[in-house]
Amino acid sequence: MDKDELKKELFLNNKNGWESVDESKRKEIFEFSKDYIDFLNSVKTEREAVTFIENLLVTNGFKNINSVTELKVNDKVFFVNREKSIYAAIIGKDITSGINIIGSHIDSPRLDLKPNPIYEDSGFAYFKTHYYGGIKKYQWTSIPLAIHGIIVKSDGTKINISIGEKNEDPILTITDLLPHLAMDQMQKKMSEGINGEDLNLLIGNIPYDKDNDGSLVKLNILKLLNDKYGIKEIDFTSSELEAVPAFRAKSLGLDESMVAGYGQDDRVCAYTSLRALLDINNPEKTSICIFADKEEIGSVGNTGMYSRSFDTFVSIILNKLGINTPNLIDIIFNKSMMLSADVDGALDPIYASVSEKNNASFLGHGIHMNKYTGSRGKSGASDANAEYVAKVRNIFETNNVSYQISELGKVDVGGGGTIAYILANKGIDVIDCGVPVLSMHSPYEVTSKFDIYEAYKGYKAFLNWR
Ligand code: MN
Ligand code: MN
Repeated sequence: MDKDELKKELFLNNKNGWESVDESKRKEIFEFSKDYIDFLNSVKTEREAVTFIENLLVTNGFKNINSVTELKVNDKVFFVNREKSIYAAIIGKDITSGINIIGSHIDSPRLDLKPNPIYEDSGFAYFKTHYYGGIKKYQWTSIPLAIHGIIVKSDGTKINISIGEKNEDPILTITDLLPHLAMDQMQKKMSEGINGEDLNLLIGNIPYDKDNDGSLVKLNILKLLNDKYGIKEIDFTSSELEAVPAFRAKSLGLDESMVAGYGQDDRVCAYTSLRALLDINNPEKTSICIFADKEEIGSVGNTGMYSRSFDTFVSIILNKLGINTPNLIDIIFNKSMMLSADVDGALDPIYASVSEKNNASFLGHGIHMNKYTGSRGKSGASDANAEYVAKVRNIFETNNVSYQISELGKVDVGGGGTIAYILANKGIDVIDCGVPVLSMHSPYEVTSKFDIYEAYKGYKAFLNWR
């Protein structure tokens, strides 16, 4: 056999997916990404994601599981966990044969306001923040920031806040030092160049009255907030306000092949798996999508994946199907399979030294699978079993989904984790599988439209699998 033919036959073929995309397919991919970009621009927090997902589910015939008394095959239901995470299911023919689950997370790195955020210094009013998740602090200065979230008054009244998204809205920012006076700062290690305690949002400069005693700019801001929202300073103590990048998600590149936007980790997997769930009909197996909160800080808390809320949702399904028995949920979990739908740090040619080329994911090469994550000797990893990897490969190959298998960075360089191990601990077969990203955890993450579309296709094929 000719050496080129033999290579084609035997070598792993990991290539740029755009090479095989014709004009009509390109249009389909771009159209899908347009909807995705709109989603990124209207959803910037976990609460907003839950509202968006719930609305779309309802429009597509899903019902809140608390509003139904009995369930049967093909019923579509969802469960909202404290407005910060949501699970959706389509009931298959025989749930006891196992569930096909896709789990993504809808929280992203950001700056949360502290419980007592507002203060004045030298004629400026500020909000103090406490960063959420893994950020490089210097990336959050000198960019436009918006505030999203809620304030709950002690009588339970809930006020939704969104400032900085509309054209006419003001934005907030965190100032940085001018280079002329930054000699000392520039000598510091990057991790120490900006202190966490200095990530303070600049929010005002006008005093309420003359003869400022050092508190009148703060007073003026509180007066504005009181007029607009009816709140006092103490109401911040029961709020969840998040500073997020105010710039818009956009098509990236002169060829418009990519998407740049905040919060793509992991809303890119949330959106593609949601669309997949909406586009399947009468699946053989019960299909469930998880949209989890708190992944970026370790999946803890009652809206994170460690919470038993997901098990509760599955138990309610079994109750309402009228088939529940002791331990049935554990037996079902042991027969279930899952894609932990999360992003991977793709190879960036500018920083190629942290990646191992043969085992890195590449933008435009399709949906990625991480057989394991973890760090320093697979520590903390959920290592997918070879049999299960083969099965997922089969699903993708049968459905013409472009996929690549990778690991996060070189051995000993670092590492990370997802929600995979938490579900694997329940006895479910799990593999990490999602969209490769550049500039991960930055205010402006980058993905490939090709991969976004392949993720949608891959998730759909998985949920539909018998
Ligand atoms: Mn993630
Ligand atoms: Mn992350």
